Amino acid sequence: MITKSLKQLGQALAAKEISSVELTTLFLDRIERLNPEINAFITVDRDQSLAEARAADARLAAGTAGPLTGIPIAQKDIFCAEGWTTTCGSKMLANFVSPYDATVIARLHGEAGMVSLGKTNMDEFAMGSSNETSYFGPVKNPWDRTRVPGGSSGGSAAAVAARLAPAATGTDTGGSIRQPAALCNLTGLKPTYGVVSRYGMIAFASSLDQGGPMAASAEDCALLLNAMSGFDERDSTSLDRPAEDYARDLEQPLAGLRIGLPREFFGDGCDPAVMAAVQAALDEYRKLGATTVEVSLPNSHLSVPAYYVIAPAEASSNLSRFDGVRYGYRAPDYDSLDDMYMKTRAQGFGAEVKRRILIGAYVLSHGYYDAYYLQAQRIRRLIAEDFVTAFKSCDIIMGPTSPSPAFKLGERAADPVQMYLSDIYTIAVNLAGLPGMSIPCGFAAGLPVGLQLIGDYFAEARLLNAAHRFQQATDWHQQTPIPI
Ligand code: GLN
Repeated sequence: MITKSLKQLGQALAAKEISSVELTTLFLDRIERLNPEINAFITVDRDQSLAEARAADARLAAGTAGPLTGIPIAQKDIFCAEGWTTTCGSKMLANFVSPYDATVIARLHGEAGMVSLGKTNMDEFAMGSSNETSYFGPVKNPWDRTRVPGGSSGGSAAAVAARLAPAATGTDTGGSIRQPAALCNLTGLKPTYGVVSRYGMIAFASSLDQGGPMAASAEDCALLLNAMSGFDERDSTSLDRPAEDYARDLEQPLAGLRIGLPREFFGDGCDPAVMAAVQAALDEYRKLGATTVEVSLPNSHLSVPAYYVIAPAEASSNLSRFDGVRYGYRAPDYDSLDDMYMKTRAQGFGAEVKRRILIGAYVLSHGYYDAYYLQAQRIRRLIAEDFVTAFKSCDIIMGPTSPSPAFKLGERAADPVQMYLSDIYTIAVNLAGLPGMSIPCGFAAGLPVGLQLIGDYFAEARLLNAAHRFQQATDWHQQTPIPI
């Protein structure tokens, strides 16, 4: 059961081969046994999960179930879920129980009838690429427990990789779905900005943040995106477009597909074993009938510097709400209101979050705004225009997701710049607002390698199609860490 696809699980539930309560129990038992070592989950609440499973079983019995009803899923702890502790990986929110559901949660649980297995570990406020900035301790990569699972959605990635959950939600501001998917051998999709509602998703950098699915296969991701996406009037950046079936093109043949290979993604800076796996995947695509063409993203080398101005600027504003007044942590001892603010924020935030708040306040301050923030916004526009030009000669852009496979715990934790470079291939996609995926494409010294697929705006169905056809021809995505 634990290696079945979401479609197969849906069929097993519909055929009454298993009930949602039984299926949920099976995963909860695995979590109980394996989570103490992996640390993928921050919050597990057996009673609450089983109550949701009973509600799903009632829908299955009443004939009102949808394709995902009764299937368990793990939720990144950045999504507010009513009655669930929602920490965002921070001491600041360690005891915060959300009074409402994020739209993603309402759609997956309320409407689709999925069952929450709990809340997954993550870098504090989604700032990181290794899950090591979490207040709740690092997550171990199930493929090698001395290594990181990637971040910031590291708990979600490790949970699905170890089959503690059949699927999970993630969020991606600069790579946080795609990079952990690559490091844990999963399929992950960051949709076009505005496709998935940000309502109730704790904000990091609002112009970049986007939620999306993490699962074993492209087909699973398509089903999840169908349930998660769609217009939401409570998110002012949500796009009011007709609903789409993201699974509609899965089976389309790839003959004639033009794959663009940005020369900037195939130069120095990538581990040769990662590059070898990517090249082998491209050969597979050629066998499937695709052609490859060189393209250029001449400003992509500026994406990391521009991101580390824009994202901290937005974070410094977004995180000002955590002041100890209305919710979350409050310092126990203080002499005045100002003292309470200062002590609360000094004690409640970790080092990386403080670093981002300081950088953000600096680049927005009088005298530096033009030199940094405005300049970064100009670069952002140039990066978006590079993609517009590239998509004139290709349908999908491909390259590595991460320049290296999973690195050792502690290896980059003391060197922020080294850590920031984990996202050299993913960040431009967020700055442009485009959809991007990572799919398993091989191994480097026993560690998973991810292939990144980047589409034009709203080309999610095409990305999923390209990923699905590759997964029909290969079995990288079916490999699991042994013993799991
Ligand atoms: N690793 C990047 C950062 O630290 C991206 C994180 C994310 O996508 N949430 O900001």
